[in-house]
Amino acid sequence: MDARRGITLPPPVMSVIERLKSCGYTVFIAGGAVRDIVMNRQRPVDWDIATSATPAEVSSCFDHVVPTGVAHGTVTVVAGGMNIEVTTYRHDGPYVDGRRPEYVVYLDDIVADLARRDFTVNAMAFDPATGELVDPYGGADDIERCLIRCVGDPAHRFSEDKLRMLRAIRFAATLGFDVDTRVVDAARSLAPEIEQVSVERIMDELMKTMRAPKPGAALLLMEKMGLAPHVFPELCSEAGEEERRRLYAACDLLSPEPEERFAALLWPLGPKGSRHVLGRMRASREFSLAVSRIIEGARDLEEHPSDYQLRLAVSRIGQDHLLSAVRLKNALRGDREEALTDMEAMEKRVQSVLAQRPPLRVTDLDVGGKEIMEATGLKPGPGVRIVLQRLLHETLRDPSVNKKECLLAMAREIGEEIKEEFTH
Ligand code: ATP
Ligand code: MG
Repeated sequence: MDARRGITLPPPVMSVIERLKSCGYTVFIAGGAVRDIVMNRQRPVDWDIATSATPAEVSSCFDHVVPTGVAHGTVTVVAGGMNIEVTTYRHDGPYVDGRRPEYVVYLDDIVADLARRDFTVNAMAFDPATGELVDPYGGADDIERCLIRCVGDPAHRFSEDKLRMLRAIRFAATLGFDVDTRVVDAARSLAPEIEQVSVERIMDELMKTMRAPKPGAALLLMEKMGLAPHVFPELCSEAGEEERRRLYAACDLLSPEPEERFAALLWPLGPKGSRHVLGRMRASREFSLAVSRIIEGARDLEEHPSDYQLRLAVSRIGQDHLLSAVRLKNALRGDREEALTDMEAMEKRVQSVLAQRPPLRVTDLDVGGKEIMEATGLKPGPGVRIVLQRLLHETLRDPSVNKKECLLAMAREIGEEIKEEFTH
């Protein structure tokens, strides 16, 4: 326990640090964990360790080491059931493609290592044994001021790695910080170059950004930096700036699950267009299907949907997405206050409709194909399917008719109507 920072490190992390020290190397916690410790915000999830030991030297100190990123000086030590990333202090060689350094040079000084890091708040190191905080760029001050600032000249740092423009937005959103104006200006002049970055890396940052408490501000920042047309070209050609702002505001009203928020963002593109964009961005099939279902469901709903409309929507898009579709429809309303007020009531309605377990598929009906054929005289085939579909529709309108007698009586009537067509 370090009294100065009030933080207890997981024992395996502590033992990795102690072991490296006992072998004569210097060791610090670095990156996001230090930021979280200084902010006293949350218990860090990843404990990245920085050391003067080279990957080979680290490997020789432990029994179980996986060479996860040796090219960048990183190995993973498996200890006490944890995977602990240990990275050698390094300096990044020249960035040839605006994405990754061509090579890395190992160093034996933590201060020199911190120079390669993107933002001051991410460029601090902490020695848990002594409580020493190494903070050469004023990260702790910037935390105090709630400010994202680059280590060094932002234009230079962004031209090395263009993804950093989106990382600035992501950290501002997740930490609730402002972005230094020099950072915004630099990003504005380099924005088109974000297209050099792989969609996977972009998507990874976007997902983290969309999970922030209020992603709307981050999306506005993306506009301000001029990144929006390069990150979401399809959206920007479909929706004007004012419309986009409305979508960004809607994102803030939705749950932090990125499916809902992406559905708000890609709303003007419709279910198919959203699937196309997310496919291009290499989102998982499951994710893009969820987003498109939510959009599809919301599109068919009225602002104050009846129970029938809700049941119809579930039968189309599935139970898992109804609540999201209703929330989306609500969030897209012009009046933010009203939308907020109605959200809870709408959620309750959805829950009560789902709790009634309405029949949603023909297999949920209280009759089967065989009984329909007996009652109507129809032969197996499309006629039977039509009867079942119409019965389902009737039960969505009024679930109380889902009783064998009722359904068979209706089936006979429908059978009479369509007999002509299906008996030959
Ligand atoms: P999180 O808690 O979200 O994981 P993090 O700060 O740990 O935040 P990571 O993306 O995991 O962020 O990166 C770990 C650290 O590595 C950062 O804090 C930063 O010091 C450095 N870093 C990561 N990516 C870059 C980059 N593209 N350019 C410069 N430094 C980077
Ligand atoms: Mg991390």
